[in-house]
Amino acid sequence: MDEPPEVYPKGDILVVDDKPENLRLLFDMLTGQGYDVRRVINGKQALTAAASEPPDLILLDIMMPGLNGYEVCQLLKSQPRTKEIPVIFLSALKDVSEKVRGFDVGGVDYISKPFELREILARIENQLTIGRQRRQIAEQYGKLEELNQKLLRSNRELEQFASVVSHDLQQPLTSLKAFAQLLQIEYEGQFDEKAASYVDRIVTSATRMQRLIRDLLTYCGCDTPPAPLQLTDCNPVLEQVLSDLRLEIEATNATVTSDLLPAVMADPIQLGEVFQNLIGNAIKYRRDGVAPQVRITVSEEGRHWLFCVADNGIGIPEKSFDRIFKIFTRLHGFNKYPGTGIGLSICKKIVESYGGQIWVESTVGLGTKFYFKLKKHHR
Ligand code: ADP
Repeated sequence: MDEPPEVYPKGDILVVDDKPENLRLLFDMLTGQGYDVRRVINGKQALTAAASEPPDLILLDIMMPGLNGYEVCQLLKSQPRTKEIPVIFLSALKDVSEKVRGFDVGGVDYISKPFELREILARIENQLTIGRQRRQIAEQYGKLEELNQKLLRSNRELEQFASVVSHDLQQPLTSLKAFAQLLQIEYEGQFDEKAASYVDRIVTSATRMQRLIRDLLTYCGCDTPPAPLQLTDCNPVLEQVLSDLRLEIEATNATVTSDLLPAVMADPIQLGEVFQNLIGNAIKYRRDGVAPQVRITVSEEGRHWLFCVADNGIGIPEKSFDRIFKIFTRLHGFNKYPGTGIGLSICKKIVESYGGQIWVESTVGLGTKFYFKLKKHHR
């Protein structure tokens, strides 16, 4: 006790003991350390004091006339207003089963008499710290929950907005394109070269915009309701994708080879979108005069399947490895490589929604490898 008293953060402590000399001793010890101390001499008073103004901590004697400490503790724990207050029992009882009983009725610690100041302070401070941390966590949790709700609301609103806008845009666009195509067909040969090229450009732009809207709808998930994941064999999914890409494959003389693929927990349509975007890109971003070679491989990596879609195309500079997964990011000109800059962000969104990861490795002028990892399915 010769050490200078430390400055403790103030705490409001209720001390319950039927012996005035114990009360005085604890009061002096604790007020001397900067705590606010309230004293009561029996269980009934303790319950009233705790309920009227809940303290940060209660030091509770066990052997008292009337309600004993265990009973008081049980009553405190049964009331919402007082149940969170930490209770440290004070007793001369040394019996282990008595101590265990203290924990059973909701006590958090135990101090044996005769009191040792440093032990009492350490135990009190320990409980007050836990209490402060619990309050902080609860407060932060509350804030997070509120933010989460806000985020969910604005996400829903945004998706609704995107869906309405996209659907409303689609209709007039479809008419625009259809009438431009009618002009091309019905007035064939009647336009001079300039007028014909204008109509061509209307059709091309309308087609591009249709694609953009379709990709946007896919990205925001507005075109399909969220589907429950199912065990999906990747092989037929890949076959369907290759059949959809048949024209591109033939036109570019591409070869696409694949390992035998596993089954994963996925939505088959979404999984198809991942393969479609990666293989489509592997063919689209080919080098001039080099027939695209696309290789799909899979290997086991711990609890994951590691898929790789590798090509021998133009490659991607290292500084753009992360950027390309962001929506609307395009590294290459539209005229040579038409696209919307949405495909990879769709892949990322889908793979991450399955708890997986996607990334790229590439050497400019040699080719690119897209990797994605999906959890293995365990029955
Ligand atoms: P899009 O192909 O419609 O532009 P993506 O989101 O699929 O959109 O791709 C984003 C950009 O990443 C592309 O514009 C292209 O610059 C680059 N990229 C994607 N895949 C490849 C690839 N296999 N080889 C080279 N560049 C690629």
